[in-house]
Amino acid sequence: MAEVIKLEKIDKIYRGAGDTQVLFGIDLSFDEGSFNAIVGESGSGKSTLMNIIGTLDVPSSGKVYINNTRTDVLSHDKLAELRNQTIGFVFQFHYLLPEFTALENVLIPCLIEHGRADKHIRERADELFELAGISKIRNNLAPNMSGGQQQRTAIIRALINDPRIILADEPTGNLDTSTTASIYTLFRQINQAYKTTFVIVTHDRKIAEQTDRIVEIKDGRIEMDVRK
Ligand code: ADP
Ligand code: MG
Repeated sequence: MAEVIKLEKIDKIYRGAGDTQVLFGIDLSFDEGSFNAIVGESGSGKSTLMNIIGTLDVPSSGKVYINNTRTDVLSHDKLAELRNQTIGFVFQFHYLLPEFTALENVLIPCLIEHGRADKHIRERADELFELAGISKIRNNLAPNMSGGQQQRTAIIRALINDPRIILADEPTGNLDTSTTASIYTLFRQINQAYKTTFVIVTHDRKIAEQTDRIVEIKDGRIEMDVRK
């Protein structure tokens, strides 16, 4: 199977008063269309790793390949293009713009990139609102939506460009148990419908166990890597 993400010997050292090494020689690949969890204690390096996978941060040494493209040799613009076309991000806090509706929030990435949202994109938005079960609130302003509806909207926004990869860093960290379960059901549906690759950081073991592979990080190293 094709490897859509590949990390080779990733070290990360945060430079500062005293340098702190946070990641140590991480070798890690993810297959196209796979559904993966990253687990580990707080401070173990999960977010640092996710930011490096997502090319939002650079490693101190080692290489990151996204879709078989080596990222460290790309220009700033080419890297941004690869990221925008290939990766969707879902964070714990959704950062919806409060003065815009759910639908407008979803279309904003396209409006920024192309200056308009064409018919194809609007149809995809409709399809995703339907899949996420929140078609009814698409014209609500963000503050008039529940936490779960807001997070679903953020997920649709991450998916609107049909990215091959979704990176989610504790996406349900501030949601209740039943909303959390429904968000994971939605992730699975998207994974199956579009063959989108998922890498999800969670400290919820029950959630992790529903994925196909659990990578455990401990003190900046891969402690376990279990595939079902
Ligand atoms: P996790 O997401 O698993 O909780 P992080 O990747 O956020 O872990 O952090 C790993 C370690 O790196 C922690 O000890 C944290 O304090 C440190 N760290 C994270 N970001 C920075 C930074 N920008 N500068 C210095 N240290 C950082
Ligand atoms: Mg984190």
